Amino acid sequence: MSKPEIPPLLAQLNPLGFWDLALQTLAKELSPQQFKTWIQPLKIKGYEESERLLLIGAPNPFKLDWIRRTFSSRLHEIAADYFGYPVNLQFTLGSDAHRSSQSAPVKTEFEVGLAAPATVLPSAVPAPAPDSGLGLDAVDDIPNPAEREQAKLNPALTFENFVTGKANQLARAASIQVAHNPGSSYNPMFLYGGVGLGKTHLIHAIGNHLLKNKPDARIRYIHAEQYVSDVVRAYQQKAFDRFKRYYHSLDLLLIDDIQFFGGKSRTQEEFFYAFEALINNGSQVIITSDTYPKEMEGIDERLISRFDSGLTVAIEPPELEMRVAILMKKAAAEGVPMSEDVAFFVAKHLRSNIRELEGALRKILAYVRFHGKEVNIEVARSALKDLLSIQNRQISVESIQRTVADFYSIKVADMYSKKRPANIARPRQIAMFIAKELTQKSLPEIGELFGGRDHTTVLHAVRKIAEERQHDSHLNHELHVLEQSLKN
Ligand code: ADP
Ligand code: MG
Repeated sequence: MSKPEIPPLLAQLNPLGFWDLALQTLAKELSPQQFKTWIQPLKIKGYEESERLLLIGAPNPFKLDWIRRTFSSRLHEIAADYFGYPVNLQFTLGSDAHRSSQSAPVKTEFEVGLAAPATVLPSAVPAPAPDSGLGLDAVDDIPNPAEREQAKLNPALTFENFVTGKANQLARAASIQVAHNPGSSYNPMFLYGGVGLGKTHLIHAIGNHLLKNKPDARIRYIHAEQYVSDVVRAYQQKAFDRFKRYYHSLDLLLIDDIQFFGGKSRTQEEFFYAFEALINNGSQVIITSDTYPKEMEGIDERLISRFDSGLTVAIEPPELEMRVAILMKKAAAEGVPMSEDVAFFVAKHLRSNIRELEGALRKILAYVRFHGKEVNIEVARSALKDLLSIQNRQISVESIQRTVADFYSIKVADMYSKKRPANIARPRQIAMFIAKELTQKSLPEIGELFGGRDHTTVLHAVRKIAEERQHDSHLNHELHVLEQSLKN
């Protein structure tokens, strides 16, 4: 499942913008009938920025229940993607309920000082239902909701429901170690890997674990983008002292997707001091990123060397068995058991990451609940019709590069390297030609994916191979084999 597009940094994030995105995203993911029945009647009823709380109203108890069970986790994801941090969505009945005042979560000193005033939409009558927010609040193994609220931890992300395989066992082991001995074993811990592989999940798990063992620990999860805007706000309000005091006093700082700091030198400077203070205090710092420290762009050298000074650990894309295990576990947790053969069928088709698997599972569950069927391969195939056909139709430039490199026994890296020997240059030209032929990409886009080459280089390659193919039957045959293997 593709990630909804994230709005530019510091753009006005607001509940209506989120709702627009949610409607667009769900319209693509659901059938028109489902969309009209379940999603369209929903309304945003209120938003309290300082509490990260968004109220969504449903027109009747039946729909309310259905939405909670079926769409809660997806809406939470879209909200987290939009706002850049987890948001607590509460589902409530659409009419005449009133917000009880005692339910207002405790605020930290920092938030009281810096957060913008709560925004409540004009028509809003905010009213969290007594048992609302199923997706997030159902887990009750953490003692103190106020602490959790301050820490911004999502209680649903724990070690218990984190499935392990070769791809993530190191990352998980290191995380458990750090959760048990914060500040003393690996400091900082730097966790990196591609999107949807479980980085955010793991660091929330660490926070939740520590909070459970030590309810008075000062813990804070923050997405790097949010940290950047907090720095800007502290700067505008000349509130740096308070900002510093807050961050420097933590026992555990979990900072997510730090690649967002790239090019933001003011933020980096501020973070550098916080980092030094925390490490000197023996407080634990945990950082995630989409790449390893030395590869990060636009980040100050001294930060990079600090990031790399503790433990740096990767999280890899899940292997087949792990994808199967994840599907089965998550399906069972939803109360809709999935057999191994169905899980294999889905896992074989969806290879990239766990978020995508969850998207597929959601579609299957929605289909099953809607049509009142059992999960089997046919049902999975129908529910995932769009996903699977897109996967089949779309050939990526990366897979072309991999296939061609394998075929001619060169390294994939040579596809984007600047090297020019003929045994490398020619397969590269062939890969460019096939990329033009089998994908929708433009010449400049292809050039970009081949190590930032100019579009005229791509054009030259495309013409040359096309021309040679006409009279070189050997080349023609090779291209044919390559094209066939890519299409299957
Ligand atoms: P990242 O931060 O690396 O982009 P996330 O931590 O947001 O990825 O993971 C994407 C989704 O996949 C989340 O819903 C998360 O709970 C789930 N997930 C990731 N790894 C696992 C795992 N090993 N077991 C169970 N669920 C996982
Ligand atoms: Mg993440």
